[in-house]
Amino acid sequence: MLRLCGVSKTYAGNVVALQNVNLEIPNGIFGLLGPNGAGKSTLMRTIATLQEPDDGTIHFDTIDVLKDKTALRRVLGYLPQEFGSYPRTSAEAMLLHFAALKGIHGHQRRQVVERLLVHTNLWKVRKRSVDKFSGGMKRRFGIAQALLGNPRLIIVDEPTAGLDPAERRRFQNLLAEVGEERVIILSTHIVDDVAALCSRIAILGRGTILADGEPAKLTAELNGKLWTVVASQADLARIRAEQYVISTRFRAGRTVVRIIADDKPEGATAAVPELEDVYFRVLIDHGLTDNLE
Ligand code: ADP
Ligand code: MG
Repeated sequence: MLRLCGVSKTYAGNVVALQNVNLEIPNGIFGLLGPNGAGKSTLMRTIATLQEPDDGTIHFDTIDVLKDKTALRRVLGYLPQEFGSYPRTSAEAMLLHFAALKGIHGHQRRQVVERLLVHTNLWKVRKRSVDKFSGGMKRRFGIAQALLGNPRLIIVDEPTAGLDPAERRRFQNLLAEVGEERVIILSTHIVDDVAALCSRIAILGRGTILADGEPAKLTAELNGKLWTVVASQADLARIRAEQYVISTRFRAGRTVVRIIADDKPEGATAAVPELEDVYFRVLIDHGLTDNLE
C-alpha cells in the first residue's frame, strides 16, 4: 500500500503542480489519468524520490519514502516519460549494465536479463541498439528495465504516448501480466489505457485529485443519466445551449452528442456510460475543458 498525505509542489514562477494530494494506492494497477500539465509526471517523480515535494508525506508499506529514499529505491522500478539510451549499445548490454547497478551479479545477472528479454518479446532484437528501436520496442525495453530486481512498486509515466494501437495493446497486455502482487502506477492522458487495465484510478487536474475509485463504480454513477442524440451541425449549438453536453463524436458522417440529464431529453436514446464520459464530466465540472474537442 502506498499512502500520500497532503503532497504539494509549487515550481519557480508560482507554477502550482501539486496541491494537497491525498491518495491510498493498494496492490494492483492504479491509473493516474489527467490532461497534459495536470501534474502527473511531478507526482510520479516525487514518489520515485527524484524530486522533493514542498509539503506532505509518502509511505510505502513501512518505508517513509521522503526520509529513507534508499529503501524506496531498492524496491522501485521506474519508467520515466522520457528516457535516453546510449547510442550503439545493444538492448542486452544495457540491461546487463542496469542489472549490475541494481546489485544483481554473477550468473544470476545473465539469467534475469534473458528472462526479461523473452518476457518483453525483445529476445530476437536483443543485439540491436536501443536507439534504433521502434517506439513500441523502446517502451517494452523500458518496462524490462523497470522490472529488474523484481520491484514491489512500479511507476510507469505515460508509457503508451506515441504508440500505435497494436503497440499500445501489446504494452497493456505486458503490464497486465506483470501481476497484481505489487503496486503498479500508470499515468496517462488516454482513457482507454486505464479503462482496460486498472482496478482503481484517480483523475488529476491542475495538481488536484478530482475523482478516484474503481472504474466500474465511477461509471455506474452515470447510470440512467447518460443520453445520446444524433444532431445536425445546425442543431448542435441549440443542444449545447439547452443541455449538459459532455462530448460529441463523429460517427459515419453524423454527430452523436452525449448528454447528462436526469430526465430523457427530446429525441434522445439511453446510453451505457463509459469511463471517458466520467473523465470528460469531471474535467468540464472543473473548467478544464481546453483539451476537449
Ligand atoms: P503532466 O505530466 O500531467 O503533463 P507535469 O507534472 O509535467 O504534468 O507538469 C505540471 C505543471 O508543472 C505544468 O504546468 C508544467 O509546465 C509545470 N512543470 C513541470 N516541471 C517543471 C519544472 N521542472 N519547472 C517548472 N515548471 C514545471
Ligand atoms: Mg507528464
